[in-house]
Amino acid sequence: MCAMGRLVYIKTFGCQMNEHDSERMLALLEGCGYRETKHVEEADVMLVNTCTVREKPEKKAYSMVGRFQRLKEDNPHAIIGITGCVAQQEGERLLGGIPALDFVLGPGKIHKLPQILQDAERGKRGTCTVGFENGCPTNLPLPHRAQLRAYVTIMQGCDNFCSYCIVPMVRGRERSRPSAAILAEIETLVRQGTKEVTLLGQNVNSYAKHTPHELTFPQLLAKIDEIPGLERIRFTTSHPKDLTEETIKAFEYVGHLCEHLHLPFQAGSNAVLEKMNRGHTREAYLAQIQKLREVCPQIGITADVMVGFPGEGDEDFDQTLDLIRRVEFDGLFSFKYSPRPGTRVARWKGECTPEVKQRRLEILQELQRGITLKKNKELEGSVKEILVEGRSRNSPHTMRGRTRCNRIINFPGGSELVGALITVQITEGLQNSLRGERCGER
Ligand code: SAM
Ligand code: SF4
Repeated sequence: MCAMGRLVYIKTFGCQMNEHDSERMLALLEGCGYRETKHVEEADVMLVNTCTVREKPEKKAYSMVGRFQRLKEDNPHAIIGITGCVAQQEGERLLGGIPALDFVLGPGKIHKLPQILQDAERGKRGTCTVGFENGCPTNLPLPHRAQLRAYVTIMQGCDNFCSYCIVPMVRGRERSRPSAAILAEIETLVRQGTKEVTLLGQNVNSYAKHTPHELTFPQLLAKIDEIPGLERIRFTTSHPKDLTEETIKAFEYVGHLCEHLHLPFQAGSNAVLEKMNRGHTREAYLAQIQKLREVCPQIGITADVMVGFPGEGDEDFDQTLDLIRRVEFDGLFSFKYSPRPGTRVARWKGECTPEVKQRRLEILQELQRGITLKKNKELEGSVKEILVEGRSRNSPHTMRGRTRCNRIINFPGGSELVGALITVQITEGLQNSLRGERCGER
């Protein structure tokens, strides 16, 4: 198929998995002659890659489709597609409800995109392609452009069925990619210029749990560590119940593994954790944090947390605040519980009112803001290695880099430094970032 010069626009909502799926879709389409545009008005193909984890991103995706429809009135040959988790969840219903929609494509069938578009270009519209293949695709398309920092999928789906979460329904059961394919992909990326990889999966700690002959997750990390030219390794997301001692120890001996762990805890009350079907307690979580800090004192720890889960009382919420005070996270992603049709909790009574959720979220975020600022200030005067990623968003004479602990540092410098590993001294700790001065090469 050759779509030489046809323009494709992709709007992505949701997590890194979705961002990576969009990169893969783009790579597939560029392989067929399409080019990406950032201006939806000029696009021949308009795609929205959707998220359904909470109601808000789902609503935003629908309003984006509304915009596509209005643009299509002026360009009737344009093709509109909905991909991602809403596509998997709603399937054919979307086609029934949105007359201008040309196709629906679930996250498990991304590889079919070129064929679907070819069919649509030839007039076969209104297709719905959802569901999951048995295994995890071995070879995934790589972006055509060199990427300094790249995502690498190591597993897909989730078996955990947290009672509030739609992911196992829209991403399917856990499937791990063969380690040989993962290693080969990283070697290719490094040859193309990648210096940092982030291993992706809904629950990377349970990598290869269905394939006992495979490398374990920490063994995979050790193998990746040997790839010449790769400077940094990260992974996300981790689940406390599957975070083994071996993986914790990897922070000690896997040299390129960055000292950062994103370890969602969701709630600080054991009663709520049980209703969430999380499979861990607050005590087990706190013990893991202690162990991590013993093994790797400089580790940066971030997490996801939710407020307003059905039945969460003031005392439960206090337990969440208490856990945050004890751990002193480097950063937190905090969400108001959002009922998701199809999950177990969606049918439960006792949901907190919107006012209670809002108030709890504000209290929690205020607490975390204070902790983040305090921790950023404590870094003043220290020297850190950073990978320079690009220009700072706020000033043309300032560059932006990231520490191994995943903190953003802005420092005076020029764009010739992009891709370099340098050391900077931190001069000021701010709420959302750090300021620094360059002191030399690594
Ligand atoms: N697999 C990862 C894990 O277990 O941590 C994260 C997957 S989920 C896409 C990302 C975050 O969204 C979760 O950690 C949780 O805090 C939040 N989330 C999931 N379902 C939610 C819901 N129904 N309402 C609000 N937040 C939700
Ligand atoms: Fe959702 Fe829980 Fe699976 Fe994370 S571990 S994706 S929160 S079901």
